[in-house]
Amino acid sequence: MQERVVLGMKILVLNCGSSSLKFQVIDAETEKRLAKGLCERIGIAGSRVIYTKTGEDKKKMEVSMPNHKEAILQMLKVLQDEKTGVISELSEIGAVGHRIVHGGEKFSKATLITSEVKATIRECSALAPLHNPANLIGVEACQALMPDIPMVAVFDTAFHQTMPEEAYLYGIPYSYYEKYRLRRYGFHGTSHDYVSERAAEILGKKREDCKIIVCHLGNGASVSAVKNGQCVDTSMGLTPLEGLVMGTRSGDIDPAVIEFIAHKEGRTIDEIMNILNKESGVLGLSDGFSPDFRDLERAYFEGRPEAVRAIRTFARRVAKYIGAYAAVMNGVDVLCFTAGVGENSPIIRSLICEYLGFLGVHLDEDKNGIYGQEEIISAENAPVTVMVVPTNEELAIARETARLVKG
Ligand code: AMP
Repeated sequence: MQERVVLGMKILVLNCGSSSLKFQVIDAETEKRLAKGLCERIGIAGSRVIYTKTGEDKKKMEVSMPNHKEAILQMLKVLQDEKTGVISELSEIGAVGHRIVHGGEKFSKATLITSEVKATIRECSALAPLHNPANLIGVEACQALMPDIPMVAVFDTAFHQTMPEEAYLYGIPYSYYEKYRLRRYGFHGTSHDYVSERAAEILGKKREDCKIIVCHLGNGASVSAVKNGQCVDTSMGLTPLEGLVMGTRSGDIDPAVIEFIAHKEGRTIDEIMNILNKESGVLGLSDGFSPDFRDLERAYFEGRPEAVRAIRTFARRVAKYIGAYAAVMNGVDVLCFTAGVGENSPIIRSLICEYLGFLGVHLDEDKNGIYGQEEIISAENAPVTVMVVPTNEELAIARETARLVKG
């Protein structure tokens, strides 16, 4: 395996969901993205591949993809196409990095996929029934089609495995933890890791010397506290439902809300979990107006009350977590905003930071006007450096993958 890994190798990064497959090809040496794409509606009528070779126009192709193996075949076809392709033969792919959602307590870093690793990922499916089985389907389809190429698993939960027990335990009988490993795990770990590392790098500091709070604010959203290079707390829990108010997820609620809705509306637990995952968050708060922050922001500026309450509730929850994590770390040096909303919404960054003057968070509102680029947005001499750091989970996965196969 070692001798086929050459400098300049291309890494294929895959994020396989139940009916979709996102992929990118990244050059491990230059770290440039060569191509990206999405196979969607796998196993459903109307499936298609959307593909962009870097520097060229996006292409959309209707193709039948009855299963994931077929989707991966289509992906390999487009990647090797004479005109649009970025590889001429499969052996140019040095390794495949798979995004795996749940690594339980077994994986605290990326790992080469063996049959034992697959079995452990399968065991973790109880903790992520919607994600891990789909991730594994992607791994197995790739292994069938590219048997000689090393596969690496990069876990969403791994970065948070350094959390101390007092951060990851729930205040419920300890026996549930002992029996089922029922605890907080956290997600978006690859993003929190990448952004905190990049922030320190931009500031010319070592991450090991900093107290950093990362706000990953996208459709799914989470905050993490990174002290001396290690995650010490994060807002998502056993599942990605805990923590912030999100696009469609409720985030933290009193558990008694479930019993209340069950009795009042005659709903089952499964139905209520569906409401909390898919009909809540800013979508629910805006009375069904939209889960999308672009829509909500427009309506906010028009003064529409449903958007105002959704955005204010969202911002306040983020601010509460930042305050809590400053307490957990006994201070904060750097506050980072990332993902769709964090990178692109000056108004939401501003509404969050309004709560945090007491901590030494002061924005420079001119600098805060930026979208989607690396920038320090705090006022000069403010005690806390506030930054926008666009996340790049695919690059982080490609780096980990290359690091492992280069040994
Ligand atoms: P992500 O999950 O990181 O892709 O983020 C998706 C969320 O980011 C969606 O709610 C988008 O509406 C939001 N978003 C993207 N661009 C903007 C923007 N310019 N202003 C406000 N929200 C945005």
